[in-house]
Amino acid sequence: MIRDDRIGLTRRGVLLGAALAAGGTLAGPSQAAAQAAVPFTRRVGGWQVTPLLDGYFPLPANYWLGIAPADLAAATHRAALDPAGPTPIGIAAWLLRGHGRTALIDTGTAGIGMFAGTAGRLPIALAAAGVAPAEIDAVLVTHMHADHIGGLLDGTAARFPRAEVVVAVPEIDFWTDPGARSRAPEGFGPMFDLAVAVTAAYGRRITRFERTAAPLPGIAALPLHGHTPGHTGWRIEGEGGPLVVIGDTALVAGVQFARPEAMLIFDGDAERARATRLALFADLAQSRALVAGTHLPFPAFGHVARDGGAYAWVPAGWPPA
Ligand SMILES: [Zn+2]
Ligand SMILES: [Zn+2]
Repeated sequence: MIRDDRIGLTRRGVLLGAALAAGGTLAGPSQAAAQAAVPFTRRVGGWQVTPLLDGYFPLPANYWLGIAPADLAAATHRAALDPAGPTPIGIAAWLLRGHGRTALIDTGTAGIGMFAGTAGRLPIALAAAGVAPAEIDAVLVTHMHADHIGGLLDGTAARFPRAEVVVAVPEIDFWTDPGARSRAPEGFGPMFDLAVAVTAAYGRRITRFERTAAPLPGIAALPLHGHTPGHTGWRIEGEGGPLVVIGDTALVAGVQFARPEAMLIFDGDAERARATRLALFADLAQSRALVAGTHLPFPAFGHVARDGGAYAWVPAGWPPA
């Protein structure tokens, strides 16, 4: 699963374990909590798409792979980030309302206490949008990392009591496989435990798909495997679109558009994640599709543009209507 030879499995596990235990060490919850409201809604394909901010997590500088320290320092400096880190990166989810349905793409960290100081506010944001958990008909999962599916749980129970959870087979098979858990670095254990808990909580309301699925009108799965075994984007077609939700295909806009070869220790198969990112960026720059990414600068809508031999993230302006 993990092929990078510059950082050992043990070190990756230790780093990730430290991240899970840290609970967030940035400025504290007050500012992010105050801003966990609903920023705006875009209309795409008959859906109202509302980004919801779960919070932030601090990304340490030593989580990078595949980029020389001098290049990373230059990219972070240019992006007005502190090269010494940590880099605060947002955690978004999306509320979809339309076609008589109410759905989410991902759910943030809420429910598991991870990054408790700076994240876990999806329920607040959802309430601010005027939606109760019981109104959610479906949750489309990009992947089963804890900052994407943690909000599916309220303790050990399903937070969304009616929701169908739509997830790729290679994703759920990997994270619920005891063999994969035993082979993974120790720090990844909580990720596997969470996936098992979600599977238990939702039971027969989990809908699995191999590579493609169209669970809601105008919305289709886009396989973007690499970051995790079944990592999936969601593409919404129609007027105002297409909108491509890219999940974790790029995590840090300030670095990975200018240096798309740069990887993070969260990338389960780092080389495959890099290849997927390069192919996706080329396609998005060509098509000029509207893009949204979980960890891109909130509210995380924008476009991918070619910039010399690499790319640039072009944030979308406030929608005109
Ligand atoms: Zn992830
Ligand atoms: Zn993520």
